Amino acid sequence: MRRPIVAGNWKMHTDLASAVALAKAVRAELADESAVDVVLIPPFPFLAAVAEAVAGSPVGVGAQDCRAESAGAYTGDVSPPMIASTGAAFCVVGHSERREYHAETNAGCNAKIRALLAANLTPIYCVGERLDVREADGTLDLVETQVRAGLDGLSAAEAVKLVLAYEPVWAIGTGKVATPKQAQEVHAHIRSVLTDLFGADTADAVRVQYGGSVKADNARELLTRPDIDGALVGGASLRAFDFASIVRAVRP
Ligand code: PEP
Repeated sequence: MRRPIVAGNWKMHTDLASAVALAKAVRAELADESAVDVVLIPPFPFLAAVAEAVAGSPVGVGAQDCRAESAGAYTGDVSPPMIASTGAAFCVVGHSERREYHAETNAGCNAKIRALLAANLTPIYCVGERLDVREADGTLDLVETQVRAGLDGLSAAEAVKLVLAYEPVWAIGTGKVATPKQAQEVHAHIRSVLTDLFGADTADAVRVQYGGSVKADNARELLTRPDIDGALVGGASLRAFDFASIVRAVRP
């Protein structure tokens, strides 16, 4: 039985005061959460303050990206050990906005995933197709390529620590949602790729979130499919009650 995980990606929103206020509001909403892993993913400058705001509660914290190296002359970049030192335990890798605006490659994501695991952080590795790929019937092949390349060289013991997020690019921030059937089809394919790579036990244990315009009112229908283990939420994670409603909707 996989434990669902719901993560809120705040992207480039909030400032220090509103980030802390939002974190405290989520904490208040979910103070007794025991069935779902909950993660807040604020912008880098607010990681430590958000981690402090939710310390001692069931709510965890993650970063939106990292660099693969631990330290060095990389102006503007942030390393996994730096993220870990703030109290965060998760980090998104390969979000479609990073792939689009920062030319992130699957190989680059693989290096980041390895670096995060070495720093005892949980990568949330994002995969997903653009609309033209879906329309050309290339979704399963593309997602498979992203999964195989991103997880290249990992052992089963490492793979089991990962979270994957299937996020069809055409559904992110657009209000367009994959149907539960479309999402389940891709999640099942991801799990079959994981089975091929790491064996059935590991594939059964890895959590695969869905992301793309998840809201309180569509969460239950989408997120209760057999291979969907929670959500990566953008827009709706900026409102504590809406985000908490999504968490409640995925409780087993
Ligand atoms: C995201 O940014 O990962 C995301 C899924 O955004 P939204 O929920 O706004 O579509």
